[in-house]
Amino acid sequence: MEQKGILAVISGFSGAGKGTLVRAMLDAYPEQYALSVSATTRRPRQGEEHGREYFFVSKDDFEEMIAKEDLVEYACYVGNYYGTPKSYVEEQMKAGKDVILEIEIQGALKVKERFPDTLLVFVTPPSAAELERRLRGRGTETEEAIQNRLKRAAEEAEFMGHYDYLLVNDKLKVCVQEIHELIQAQHKRIRGSRDFIDKIKRELRRISDKY
Ligand code: ADP
Ligand code: 5GP
Repeated sequence: MEQKGILAVISGFSGAGKGTLVRAMLDAYPEQYALSVSATTRRPRQGEEHGREYFFVSKDDFEEMIAKEDLVEYACYVGNYYGTPKSYVEEQMKAGKDVILEIEIQGALKVKERFPDTLLVFVTPPSAAELERRLRGRGTETEEAIQNRLKRAAEEAEFMGHYDYLLVNDKLKVCVQEIHELIQAQHKRIRGSRDFIDKIKRELRRISDKY
């Protein structure tokens, strides 16, 4: 059966391992998944490239994208704008790819409101102490930014109950497989199978009319 791709949102505290997980998923299943590259006003970290991790834009450019309705959603996170460009998501879903959005909670809830068939997955490390270890171990933020992100994590935890699934990212390989299975299961949900249901109803009517 021909089926359009679905939207899968992966959220979680900064330092939970979302970026690592998503990269591993794309490596493992390159034909199946497309990762949406977000626009942001935050500065690139060392090693990040424009167009690969993010489209790094000015505040003015970002506000123009909002005004032109070029974004599926956007949010402010620890002082910067982050948003999902619409055109890429639409193209890839039409081409049958499952599109992964690695975005924070406010954006995730907006996407779910707009597209109710979206799968919302929340990724967490096994403990808060492990979160702090990963955030510090990554070595990409200042002490102040690390503390802001940990404070934000405490606020974000309040919204975990809005997600469809919670995944503990302990062993990376296991977590990649679990996300893959969840997305594949989402394809089989009755809500997302309306075209197939309509088709088989028509066929059954035709057959029963013969008898
Ligand atoms: P996020 O994108 O959620 O902010 P990252 O993918 O940058 O998080 O991961 C944060 C740090 O934790 C990185 O240094 C990464 O290598 C490490 N990490 C990710 N997943 C695991 C895991 N399952 N076990 C141990 N360390 C991990
Ligand atoms: P970071 O600065 O660590 O790359 O990202 C900070 C937070 O912004 C993360 O929780 C990340 O998932 C989120 N984020 C990245 N892109 C987007 C986006 O397009 N929209 C929203 N709402 N959040 C995003």
